Amino acid sequence: MKPDAKLGADVIVIGGGLQGTSSALQLARRGLRVTLLEAEYCGRHASGVNAGGVRTLGRHVAEIPLALAARKLWHRLAELTGDDADFVPSGQLKVAESEAEMEVLRDRVAQLQALGFTHEALVDAHTVRELVPSIAPHVTGAIWAHEDGHALPYRAVTGFRRAAERAGVAIHEGTPALQVERMGNHWLIRTKRGTFSASHLVNTAGAWAGEFAAQVGEPVPVQAGGLMLMITYRVAPFVKPVLGATGRALSFKQFANGTVLIGGGLRCEADAKARHGEVDMLKLATSAQTVTALFPHLGPLAINRAWAGVEAFMPDDIPVISRSRTAPDLVHAFGFSAHGFELGPIVGQIVAELVTEGHASLPVEAFAIDRFGKPQGTQAATQRG
Ligand SMILES: Cc1cc2nc3c(=O)[nH]c(=O)nc-3n(C[C@H](O)[C@H](O)[C@H](O)COP(=O)(O)OP(=O)(O)OC[C@H]3O[C@@H](n4cnc5c(N)ncnc54)[C@H](O)[C@@H]3O)c2cc1C
Repeated sequence: MKPDAKLGADVIVIGGGLQGTSSALQLARRGLRVTLLEAEYCGRHASGVNAGGVRTLGRHVAEIPLALAARKLWHRLAELTGDDADFVPSGQLKVAESEAEMEVLRDRVAQLQALGFTHEALVDAHTVRELVPSIAPHVTGAIWAHEDGHALPYRAVTGFRRAAERAGVAIHEGTPALQVERMGNHWLIRTKRGTFSASHLVNTAGAWAGEFAAQVGEPVPVQAGGLMLMITYRVAPFVKPVLGATGRALSFKQFANGTVLIGGGLRCEADAKARHGEVDMLKLATSAQTVTALFPHLGPLAINRAWAGVEAFMPDDIPVISRSRTAPDLVHAFGFSAHGFELGPIVGQIVAELVTEGHASLPVEAFAIDRFGKPQGTQAATQRG
């Protein structure tokens, strides 16, 4: 590969989802010349089509410090990007539907408190009914994260993208990275529009990021999977917090216009090559029934639209946010396993720290790329040029 002289930068970011645009913004604000390559258009995949849940509630313990730091950024997103992405600090509520489920929630809160985390609070049935008066009478209590909320996903990515462009990032859409190679002290990235070069590389290619990890000799078990959402017609206001269940896969919220967005980790088939997730109507029906079990008055409400996005899943459900173990000046951030939207604002900051300082200000050891075993290849270790 030969670099095109006019396509040089300090850092190339592959992937224009939330993690890529957030990383590009933070890198540019540190004075670096940044180029972002996006295969389709920014926000086309998971980051632009997700449920917009800004949730610290129910996180893997390793993610909590990042999630809490990210939530602070969501509360002042307009200062960060110039657009608040319609962030609503509605709180998030995870309800128990039996005494056994309540016990699960008690254990969770006790575990967190023992670790010094107080962002998840146990509340009784009476408080749940104060927060959501129309909820079914069998609900026994909940965990309440009152500073959580929701935002509009595509608008959030676009906010980061525009802020990144204002900070000087060159964004090339419709430009898939085809191959990455280390040559001397530079990265070369081959695309159909020429060969880009930079001293640092950031891999935020979502469900497709595994290709680049494999190309540098550190394959990871990241898998593309589909996730579904559906949205109803308008109904009179009945719920303010984002609501999740303990014993069933469910998360839903009502927007100010009255429509109800229903999801909660509803998995479906995805074809990574075709860059497509396939809606499974039977699974959607089960989810709709769960909503009517909690809110019987919604029985006659019709679904207006359903869709599926493609997400990157890791076997342990936590992401890779890590410097490469096989190649210099390469940082990976992918595999967010259905909950990376909330983390986006802080991931950009961490990636920028890993690129410029070599270490992060928050604990990221649990997200190391080599946690699944030793890398098998040596391509990048053999430098050329
Ligand atoms: C239906 C659904 C609901 C969800 N709900 C929530 C939620 O409520 N809360 C939450 O926190 N998270 C949620 N998530 C998860 C969240 O959306 C993701 O974890 C997050 O958006 C991942 O961001 P990303 O930037 O890593 O990936 P992506 O948004 O997938 O971005 C990766 C980008 O890389 C590009 N790319 C791929 N290959 C190449 C290449 N070769 N060259 C250049 N570019 C390339 C892609 O086109 C894509 O734009 C949900 C996800 C889905 C699908």
